[in-house]
Amino acid sequence: MNLSVKIFAALVLSVIVGLVAGPEALPFIKLWIAPIGTIFINLIKMMIVPVVFTSLVVGMTSLGDTTTLGRIGVRTIVIYLVTTAIAILIGFAVAGIGQPGAGLQMLADGKVDVKEAPSIMQVFVNMIPTSPVDSMAKAQILPIIVFALFVGVGIIQVGGERAQVLIKFFDAAAEVCYKIIALIMNFAPIGVFALLLPVVAANGPKVLLPLISVIACLAVGCAIHAVAVYSTIARVGGHISPMDFFSAMSEAMLLAFTTCSSAATLPVNMKNLQEKLGTSREVTSFVLPLGATINMDGTALYMGVCSLFIANVFGIDLTMGQMMMIVFTGTLASIGTAGVPGAGLIMLAMVLQSVGLPIEGLALVAGIDRVLDMFRTCLNITGDGAVAVAIDYSEKHHGELTA
Ligand code: ASP
Repeated sequence: MNLSVKIFAALVLSVIVGLVAGPEALPFIKLWIAPIGTIFINLIKMMIVPVVFTSLVVGMTSLGDTTTLGRIGVRTIVIYLVTTAIAILIGFAVAGIGQPGAGLQMLADGKVDVKEAPSIMQVFVNMIPTSPVDSMAKAQILPIIVFALFVGVGIIQVGGERAQVLIKFFDAAAEVCYKIIALIMNFAPIGVFALLLPVVAANGPKVLLPLISVIACLAVGCAIHAVAVYSTIARVGGHISPMDFFSAMSEAMLLAFTTCSSAATLPVNMKNLQEKLGTSREVTSFVLPLGATINMDGTALYMGVCSLFIANVFGIDLTMGQMMMIVFTGTLASIGTAGVPGAGLIMLAMVLQSVGLPIEGLALVAGIDRVLDMFRTCLNITGDGAVAVAIDYSEKHHGELTA
């Protein structure tokens, strides 16, 4: 049985057992089963700092290649970042209206301590680590991100042989982190069961609706983003009708939906854009691989929806400052998300951590994450395609490429 099926089965099992056991069984569940869930959450927490640091350094160094394509590179990255931030805002808007998770209660031992939002200047001051090691020890995400970005820039500036050594090192280190996470995720079915059982036992059948509403919010958000943002980029930037754009993208979108991997979809996406829309090889071979690595609008939208969902479940009102922080860390997190199934879930842990939301909420999301992954990956690769046709048009008409 594949892992996502097992995790889903664990979710179903926790619902059945929780409903049968009911609130009377809570003392037993809290004493003997809930701690197993805590172990699982701690294992995930253990990996947040290493994976964020290594994968962001790798993300930055992969941008280093852009110097060869300077102009296209800067424009591509700017559009990627802006559309990603818009995606999170759409996620907030949809989840703000849909209110997934409202009414469901999950308590992290009654001690959910939400960080006071600091003033905006204080945020900037706090972002700079006076000691990167200290920030890592305290799992302070923002300073770690800033340090990782500096290390990435430093490596690019050094260049040549010596930089290659480090690029390979961080690449391998990030890979090791992903392998460890894969090992931990093998334990996810048990972890998810242990985390959800007390929630179901305490809440009863009303636990199901919020899960369905998270999926619905993400699906609606993705559709809105695709129609509003990508149609506009294809039409205004690429001078292609949205119909033509989406029909050329449909095969890759379907593949992304089923494989949940931007990386696996890349070859099909490159081929189809070249063959069906005539996008140049120069642009597709630069914009799409870069997009599959750093541009994850679906993942970003998912962070917006899920963080509001988790805040609702824990009865927390997110402040404006915290939402801005989620947009910021979510955008960076989506850069660091690998184009493989399930990568976004780990990055969600980092976003939650950055605003002090309880990571325990991941358990609820994990149970349905495969379904969420289908929608977000589909949006991820569509965004790469939209930016590619826009960059291609501007290169052919105002740049050095010939039509
Ligand atoms: N599966 C996604 C992708 O490959 C990444 C994620 O998990 O968000 O694009």
